[in-house]
Amino acid sequence: MVKTAEWICPSCGATNRKLVRSDERRTEDRCVSCHRKHIIEEDTRPVRWRVAAALK
Ligand SMILES: [Zn+2]
Repeated sequence: MVKTAEWICPSCGATNRKLVRSDERRTEDRCVSCHRKHIIEEDTRPVRWRVAAALK
C-alpha cells in the first residue's frame, strides 16, 4: 500500500507530492520546482506532511 505525502517547499513555496509506503513516517523528497532536497515527516493531518529540514 502507498499513500500520498504532500508538502510545501519552504524555499520556493511549491506544492510537492510523493507516493510513499503506507508505513513510512519520514522520508526525503526533492522539490519539483527548486530541486532542493527536504526531509519531510508525517503530521497529524493526513496527506499534508511537515518539512523537518532542508538539505542542499
Ligand atoms: Zn522548492
